[in-house]
Amino acid sequence: MIEKKRVFTFGNGKAEGKADMRNLLGGKGANLAEMNLIGVPVPAGFTITTEVCTEYNQLGKDKMVELLKKEVEEGIKKTEEVMNAKFGSKGEAFPLLVSVRSGARVSMPGMMNTVLNLGMNDDAVKILAEKSGNPRFSWDSYRRFIQMYGDVVMGVEAEKGEHDPFEVEMDKIKEAKGYQSDTDFTVEDLQNIVEQFKKVVKQRTGNEFPTNPWDQLWGAVCAVFDSWNTERAILYRQLENIPEEWGTAVNVQAMVYGNMGDSSATGVAFTRNAATGENLFNGEYLINAQGEDVVAGVRTPQQITIEGSKRWAEMQGISEQERAEKYPSLEEAMPEAYNELNQVQDKLEKHYLDMQDLEFTIQDNKLWMLQTRNGKRTAAAMVRIAMEMLEAGEIDEKTALLRQDPNKLDELLHPVFEEEAIKSAHVLTKGLPASPGAATGRIVFFADEAEEWAGKGEQVVLVRTETSPEDLRGMHAAEGILTARGGMTSHAAVVARGMGKCCVSGAGDVKIDYKKRTMTIKGVTLKEGDWLSINGSTGEVYNDKVETIAPELSGNFGKIMDLSEKYTRMYVRTNADTPHDAKIARDFGAKGIGLCRTEHMFFEGDRIWSIREMILANKEAGRKKALKKLLEMQRSDFEGILEAMDGFGVTIRLLDPPLHEFTPEGATAQTEMAEKLKVDVKEVREKVHSLHEFNPMLGHRGCRLGITYPEITEMQARAIMEAACNLKAKGLNPKPEIMIPLIGTAKEFQLQEEIIRRVAEEVQKEKNQKVDFLVGTMIEIPRAALTANEIAQHAEFFSFGTNDLTQMTFGYSRDDAGKFLPIYVKKGILKHDPFQVLEQTGVGQLVEMGCQKGRSVNANLKLGICGEHGGEPSSVEFCHRTGLDYVSCSPFRVPIARLAAAQANIR
Ligand code: ADP
Ligand code: MG
Ligand code: MG
Repeated sequence: MIEKKRVFTFGNGKAEGKADMRNLLGGKGANLAEMNLIGVPVPAGFTITTEVCTEYNQLGKDKMVELLKKEVEEGIKKTEEVMNAKFGSKGEAFPLLVSVRSGARVSMPGMMNTVLNLGMNDDAVKILAEKSGNPRFSWDSYRRFIQMYGDVVMGVEAEKGEHDPFEVEMDKIKEAKGYQSDTDFTVEDLQNIVEQFKKVVKQRTGNEFPTNPWDQLWGAVCAVFDSWNTERAILYRQLENIPEEWGTAVNVQAMVYGNMGDSSATGVAFTRNAATGENLFNGEYLINAQGEDVVAGVRTPQQITIEGSKRWAEMQGISEQERAEKYPSLEEAMPEAYNELNQVQDKLEKHYLDMQDLEFTIQDNKLWMLQTRNGKRTAAAMVRIAMEMLEAGEIDEKTALLRQDPNKLDELLHPVFEEEAIKSAHVLTKGLPASPGAATGRIVFFADEAEEWAGKGEQVVLVRTETSPEDLRGMHAAEGILTARGGMTSHAAVVARGMGKCCVSGAGDVKIDYKKRTMTIKGVTLKEGDWLSINGSTGEVYNDKVETIAPELSGNFGKIMDLSEKYTRMYVRTNADTPHDAKIARDFGAKGIGLCRTEHMFFEGDRIWSIREMILANKEAGRKKALKKLLEMQRSDFEGILEAMDGFGVTIRLLDPPLHEFTPEGATAQTEMAEKLKVDVKEVREKVHSLHEFNPMLGHRGCRLGITYPEITEMQARAIMEAACNLKAKGLNPKPEIMIPLIGTAKEFQLQEEIIRRVAEEVQKEKNQKVDFLVGTMIEIPRAALTANEIAQHAEFFSFGTNDLTQMTFGYSRDDAGKFLPIYVKKGILKHDPFQVLEQTGVGQLVEMGCQKGRSVNANLKLGICGEHGGEPSSVEFCHRTGLDYVSCSPFRVPIARLAAAQANIR
């Protein structure tokens, strides 16, 4: 029987692992091996596999050590040979010190910090001092080791309100001697610090600091494995859906020393600019330093290239002379090591064919690489790097597309804060990131005033406890919207996303006094007219004005969209209720409208009064009179929308919400309504009362309105067909698709269809035009999906309304689910909020069934989806697999959906 291999060595241009063994060796370990194989200088060492992590969790420490001992000892032996040093040297050789590092498949915050200089003790420090001829370096390494091991493995940490106990000891000496920097410590200081550190460990843990290198090593290995199960790591895994079985690997690697003096250094670098994507090697380094000093901010790191250094100095307002003297680049300070680093970065990028994030150390002018990985980047860099690599012929089109994270694209579609301006802004509080982008403006508390102020050319941010349909125009006029209440699917959030307008919702710290026209946030009072800035991508709320910059949508972004077009099967429509939104979406590449909600138009201006008049009318005749006024308005709306989407299908949904949404609640508003419509207030009150429903979502809405008031359907069908005929007469090519909402039975569909077709016939005759139109339905009630074969005998298209379908499949009310959904997600009952990410097993099954059953009787049935899910990448991929013709989403998500659809087709 072949023993399972648990340890993979690397060093001296050889390695037992390689890059594609990331599952077994973790990302860091696999790349350390690979770098050896391609001739990049890497200190020798070995990787203990991720499988051992699982064994450790099952079997415990002793058994794990027993299983591993032989291989680890061999790994150390090989390392000793390559590095010409001895672990636990008694003076016969240069002491071998190692680093112990965690490394999972994907980089994971919460995992153990690296321990450097392991193997150090009272003997080793003296031998190293003697053999290196550099006691300062040796003692500096010792104090670093006790500090890291004490913290990471032995658990010495600052208690609440306390400073790090190790730092406190160092600061005492710095202060006493008036030192500026850690590099000022003398050998004696460092010896003193080591003694103090040992005492700290003893005091805090009750244990002596371990002196035996092997004890140190096993202690560190176990600490890495233990860190897999810390609260932080577990939480992160839950959030990111990382399985527990993956485990982490442990990397043990010979130390190389960046703290050996002025010919030594350590640093981090990127092969391209991770913020902008510019193809310019860049990074930071520190002379005479080790490990994480660069990121820790104890000293100001210097730039790697001359170019980077000059740019940096300019931004800091530092003169060229001062820069060259005090902050020279690595290119200037260590030209040879720099040249080698420059060659290595080029080689690594060409090898991995992606931007690399590198860690390196220079020991006495010799370069060593300690890590490489694909670098994290902003959306702008993501797009630019892929397109430039494509143009350079380094990657192909499909790869360039697959490199894009659709959700990230969102960053590019909205204004952002100016980088410099935001640095000095102060965060007042945080709400939910309800609709992305950045906005800055003067505070107004009322929607109509937002409109007024904006009309006078003021930039405003509308601040409300919550918003309602009446605030629509004010929301439109504002730069952004901040609400104190409401979740990610609140009115403000949904409407703002639809408009592509920045919105922060549910900022609970915001207390508004509408009377005084002030708001307070944690004791800070702001009044109407004060400046406020909000970031809808993070939920942050800032005081003062922060300049924003507009998105750049041509260039590389445009090229990504062209590629998406080339590789997609599905096309993308938009959910839009106005010609304005339709136009934005069309510019983003939408091919048609998947959902135009007619009721939104009723809130515009004076229209609400016509619908209120209709609602109040008790007889058909009265209703018809009111409907006639609405007909005029709707016709012109539809003309606008059909014109904006000329040549593409426009799905118009007939009236859907329960009528009570159009009537006022409060007594004053009811009196106003009675006066305006010249009826007794009692009548209004009674009407409102009679419209009241216990469960409006399941009440008198959708096609049920059209069934009980056929004249509403008639009016809407007429408005749509007249609009289409008028455009036809102008030589345009309107393609209305009339959609009957909330069908549960085929009979409901038939009854509504009859009306629509009859009216359509009449209108076309009257206008002497022939319009290309369809009649179809929304599938949003489970029974409709189950009986799709019956419905599809009549319907020409299905549009899956996955918001309602999710609501009714789960039996969760969208308006009330906020109380328990977050807990459901936290407890793992649900992976995601099903209103944001389409739940494929249950709700998705109904969609699949609807498609299959529908197409089984009508092969030409047009299929699409128009819920909020239409712009969510994993849901788009599901729609592709299910064979839908299109997805439809809010205008600003159109590019995201287009990219996701193309990726689904490539994968
Ligand atoms: P992280 O995951 O936080 O990047 P690493 O395991 O990469 O942690 O280690 C952090 C830093 O420690 C590295 O950037 C490197 O500077 C230093 N380091 C790790 N191993 C060694 C080593 N063998 N010799 C010198 N420095 C090392
Ligand atoms: Mg770390
Ligand atoms: Mg690292």
